[in-house]
Amino acid sequence: MLNSAHLILGSAIVAKTSNPILGIFLAFLSHYVLDFIPHYDGPENDKKKDEENEIINYSALVFDIPVSLLLIIYLYLQFGLNFYIFSGALAAVLPDLMDNVVWWRNISRKLFAWKWLFKLHQSTHLVFEGKMRYIKIVGIATQILVIVASILWIGF
Ligand SMILES: [Zn+2]
Repeated sequence: MLNSAHLILGSAIVAKTSNPILGIFLAFLSHYVLDFIPHYDGPENDKKKDEENEIINYSALVFDIPVSLLLIIYLYLQFGLNFYIFSGALAAVLPDLMDNVVWWRNISRKLFAWKWLFKLHQSTHLVFEGKMRYIKIVGIATQILVIVASILWIGF
């Protein structure tokens, strides 16, 4: 899923867990659970992704970055500069930061302990098959649902 969906659910989990360290751990695990929900976050294959844009793929640019920034502002307004809340957000996006950033993914994917987490990441990442238009509509809708549900869970 996109970073915006991961980060807001990760923060919500920390906010709703009484032990913040456990919350951050659960936020990290939530990444693999969320990726299992059918979604669309750009081309699945690395080569295609790189062709679309060297650094960030198109869907990230038009949706993910602005939404992520808005969500970070919302988290700041709700919790201030809360170390645990923002650690939860970071923990929830960590698998994508480690596995999918073009600058270091070839190294991080092979790191001793992380190697297993990369395999887990790949196996939980649900790949859509079918018509692209349908995939995009459903795949973006599921992520908007996660974002809205997380905000409602955190509250105003
Ligand atoms: Zn992921």
